[in-house]
Amino acid sequence: LPQKFIEAQPILEQLQAHGFEAYFVGGSVRDTLLGMEIHDVDIATSAYPAEVKSIFKRTVDTGIKHGTVMILDHGEGYEVTTFRTESGYQDFRRPDQVTFVRSLKEDLKRRDLTINALAMDAQGNVIDLFGGLTDLKHKTIRAVGDPTERFHEDALRMMRAVRFVSQLNFKLEEQTKQAIMANASLLTKIAVERIHVEWVKLMLGKNPNQGLTEFLQTDMFKYCPAFAEEKVQLTHIAALENLELSSEEAVWTLCGRFLNKKPQQTGKMLRQWKTSNEIINAVVHAQEAVAFFPEPTAQILYQTGLPLLLVANQVAQYEGHAVPVTQLTNWYNELPIKDKKELQLTGTDLIQTLQMKPGPQIGQIIKAVEQLVLTKKLANDKETLLHYAKTFK
Ligand code: ATP
Ligand code: MG
Repeated sequence: LPQKFIEAQPILEQLQAHGFEAYFVGGSVRDTLLGMEIHDVDIATSAYPAEVKSIFKRTVDTGIKHGTVMILDHGEGYEVTTFRTESGYQDFRRPDQVTFVRSLKEDLKRRDLTINALAMDAQGNVIDLFGGLTDLKHKTIRAVGDPTERFHEDALRMMRAVRFVSQLNFKLEEQTKQAIMANASLLTKIAVERIHVEWVKLMLGKNPNQGLTEFLQTDMFKYCPAFAEEKVQLTHIAALENLELSSEEAVWTLCGRFLNKKPQQTGKMLRQWKTSNEIINAVVHAQEAVAFFPEPTAQILYQTGLPLLLVANQVAQYEGHAVPVTQLTNWYNELPIKDKKELQLTGTDLIQTLQMKPGPQIGQIIKAVEQLVLTKKLANDKETLLHYAKTFK
C-alpha cells in the first residue's frame, strides 16, 4: 500500500469500528494498481454525512450536499464521501439529485470508467465489480455499463475517456468509442471550463498523439471552441513525433502555431476556451517569441523572459527550430538588463537633470535607450545614458 493509504487507514478502520463500510476509491486506487504516484486519496463509505461527522472530532463540510465531508487528521484532510447514486441528468451534465445509499455496488456503478470504479479496503483488498482489473491489465478505457446511456447522463465522460487514453497510454474500447462518435455533439451541453480541464490534461498526458487522434476520430473536436474547422491542422499536431509538452502554456502556444493563428488570434481563441488572462498573456508572448527561433533577438529574449522562452523553445522544437536549452539560457543571462527597472536612466532623470518637458517624448527616449542598452550599443550607466539622451534635446 502506498504511504498515503497507510496514513489514511485509521480513518477507514474507525468507520468500520462503527459498523460502516469504508473503501479507497477512484483515481488513487487506479493509480496505485498501476504503480503510479497518487495525489489525492478519496474515501467512500456507507455512513451518511451526519454519521461521519459524529464519528470524527474535526470535520469540514466541503461538499456536504453531495455527501462529502473532509476529515482532518494529523494535519491532513481526507475527503470522505457517502455511497451515492445520481439521478435526473436532465441536461446531459451533472445530476439534479444525489441519493445516499448503503451499497458500494450502487456507488461504483455511477462512476465513469471501469478503471475508475475499483475500490480497495483498508487491508489492500481490491473490490472489482465491473471488470476494472482486466481493463487495467489490458490497458483499456471502457465505460461502466452501457456507454451511450452513461454519456447521455454526463457528456463530460466522453472527454474524460479520451483524456485517460492519453494520460495512461491506454486504448479506447470499441463500443465506448462508437458511443462517443455517436454522441460527440452532446459536448455542447457541457461548460467550456470543464472541457478545457480535460483537453489540457489530454495534451499533457503520456500519449497525447493517441489521445488527440481519438479526440479527432470521435469528432469531439467539432464541439470544442474554435476547433471545428481545424481538423487538418489538429491532425498535423497528432502526427508530431515525440509530442511531449510540459505546461498548459506550451499546449496553447503549439496550437496557436499549428492552427496558423497570429498571437492575438490565439488570444481570442483562448478567450473562447475561457482561459485565465494570465495564461492568455503568457501564450501570446510565448507565441510571439516562437516566430524568432532559432535566432531570438535581444529584444525578444528581454520581452519574453526566461520561463516563456523555454515554452517557446519547446514549441519551436516541433517546427525544427529549437535551440539547446543551455544556449538559450546563456543568451538570456547575457542580456545587459533583464527588466526595465535595471535601466540606469529614468523619465525623472530626463525631466530633472536634462530639464526636458514631461510628455510622450520621454517614454520614446527611454524606449530608444533601452533598445540601445539591450543591443549593447550603449553601456548601462547613468552618465553614458544621460549624455546620449542629451542629443534628443
Ligand atoms: P485524477 O487523477 O485526474 O484526479 P480521478 O479518476 O481521480 O483522476 P476525479 O475527477 O478526481 O478523477 O474523480 C474521482 C472519481 O470520481 C473518478 O475516479 C470516478 O470514479 C468518479 N468520477 C469523476 N468524474 C466523473 C464523472 N463525470 N462521471 C462519473 N464518475 C466520475
Ligand atoms: Mg482525483
